[in-house]
Amino acid sequence: MDLLLHLPHRYQDRTRIVPLRALRVGQECLVQGQVTDSRIIRGRRRNWLVVLNDGEGALTLRFFHFSQRQVENLKIGRTARCFGEVRAGPTGMEMAHPEYRDYAEPPTELEARLTPVYPTTKGLGQTRLRALVAQVRALDWPQGSALPLESLFLLHLPPAGATDDDIAQAQERIARDELTAYYLVMRFRQSQRQSQQAPPLPQAQQLGRTLLEHLGFQLTRAQRRVVREVLLDLAQSRPMLRLLQGDVGSGKTVVAAFAAIRAAEHQAQTALMAPTEILAEQHYLSFSSWLTPLGIPVAMLTGGQGKAMRQRTLEGLASGETLVAVGTHALFQQATAFDNLALTIVDEQHRFGVHQRMALRAKGRTPHQLIMTATPIPRTLTMALYADMDVSLLDELPPGRQPIDTRLVAASRRDEVLARIAKVLDAGQQAYWVCTLIEDSDQLYAESAETTWQRLRAQLPGRRIGLIHGRMKSEEKAAVMAAFKAGDHQLLVATTVIEVGVDVPNASLMVIENPERLGLAQLHQLRGRIGRGTRKSYCILLYGTPLREVSRARLKVIRESQDGFHIAEQDLALRGPGEILGTRQTGETRFRVADLARHAHLIPEIIQEGQRLLTEAPEEAEALRLAWAGGDVGPVSV
Ligand code: ADP
Ligand code: MG
Repeated sequence: MDLLLHLPHRYQDRTRIVPLRALRVGQECLVQGQVTDSRIIRGRRRNWLVVLNDGEGALTLRFFHFSQRQVENLKIGRTARCFGEVRAGPTGMEMAHPEYRDYAEPPTELEARLTPVYPTTKGLGQTRLRALVAQVRALDWPQGSALPLESLFLLHLPPAGATDDDIAQAQERIARDELTAYYLVMRFRQSQRQSQQAPPLPQAQQLGRTLLEHLGFQLTRAQRRVVREVLLDLAQSRPMLRLLQGDVGSGKTVVAAFAAIRAAEHQAQTALMAPTEILAEQHYLSFSSWLTPLGIPVAMLTGGQGKAMRQRTLEGLASGETLVAVGTHALFQQATAFDNLALTIVDEQHRFGVHQRMALRAKGRTPHQLIMTATPIPRTLTMALYADMDVSLLDELPPGRQPIDTRLVAASRRDEVLARIAKVLDAGQQAYWVCTLIEDSDQLYAESAETTWQRLRAQLPGRRIGLIHGRMKSEEKAAVMAAFKAGDHQLLVATTVIEVGVDVPNASLMVIENPERLGLAQLHQLRGRIGRGTRKSYCILLYGTPLREVSRARLKVIRESQDGFHIAEQDLALRGPGEILGTRQTGETRFRVADLARHAHLIPEIIQEGQRLLTEAPEEAEALRLAWAGGDVGPVSV
């Protein structure tokens, strides 16, 4: 069954011979011709060249590795039938190392079907896979299978003449089933969760109220609503699994604090996990300032901490004395044990994998889970991909925020930008300079940030300029962040390590170099580091020229909107959802056939169909779910 769902990712057409005069570069095809020349060239590398002619055109075959025997067999006058990719060579069209057979008189028969090319798995080559599929095809299939067999076989063994359209249609048919099955898996998990037991955490003291009085600001309406939703969930005896979506700066952290306070009222523990040490540190500071006055002990646990400090934290968690632990993935490492973990909170969940979230969850029995994300996901996608969760939305920013003015500036105008920075710094405000790179290499990243930092120090003399990147030790990073927060650094040169969560209200200018290299969601996150105070903030997108058309369109979206959801929807239209969900996340939501970039438009119908099956044909729903997911968890999201 799994074999049937292991589908070809492309096809080779060996059902027809392409005339040599009609060859195009890049084409992969079957050709045939008589050998009119064969010679070995001795240059830097030995080459064997064979020229084929079919009466109307010619093609050169080029071999770097060959045996004497091959040369003897494929000689002038023989006819060769080859399959390979056409490329441009020094003297015309070529194929390098094609598959070939030579004949005195070639057979007239050709393959009847397109040849599937499978993503190969270890130990299973194409030939073996093709043979297996043919065997499976020959089996007697019962009527009414839960799998769309006809479409599956069409994709495995498409008949000669099958068009791209036919293939796309079959794929869509299967994608529809797969997405429906996925939706059913999510709904199934949701209903399973309903039958699990979690420690109920009803209101016990008035600690939350005390925090409200000392917070120094009023909660927004949206925050009040979401806090209420979360606290209601916590009071139940089944585990909460709630996704809190809120744009950057919407104030998710304080919502998390109210949840932790509720657990603490029951002497139960909370673990808050952040993706970076910088963010963990910052959350630790916020939580300490809010919770310590209420008598709730808070501790921090990160990988970069000193041994002694860490040991003390671990002891506090194991004994149950520490009620709230803020940290990085160190929280779910083996050495970490909790006495009574009742609530796990994952911040910026798109940075984590589902396994990490599960590992944290496993530190308690069946703890309540709150999952926070600033990555806006269009509503239709949420409803399908997160159908196992309840969703809360913080759709309001705290008052007094000034909109960010975003400008597109060509890198050739760097001098003007520098003058602008100087002016902002000299007026007592702070700024970020964000360096980007295409390669995902910490080392290159660090080097480029370092170079930029040197340069900016020379160009902005007399200003205090800090540097932060992912290669620094965690204490160093923390020290730099603290200095920036305290205003000791005026300008912070940074890599995208500051993408999430960093909160310095006095920073009112951000320059992002080569923004075209980043996804819109990431740009929006980065930009969210400014506009946190009451002063008008500016974001300068310093793009490399020339800018491609799509890049221009995408940056225009960022310039014109500050609504993360709108940006996500535009991005979905321009680039597909991989961008929105982030590579880490899509890496996990791996569908076998469905491709959200191509099939997202099916989702509303799929939800409808899934709901219909659940109410009208539960047996069919179960068969479909099992056909795709088996007894296993199936494809997974968050
Ligand atoms: P995010 O949702 O991006 O995680 P944060 O929780 O970091 O946002 O909040 C951003 C900033 O706004 C913080 O400095 C926080 O203290 C502040 N804040 C949160 N809620 C409010 C509010 N209701 N009024 C004013 N400021 C708030
Ligand atoms: Mg945050």
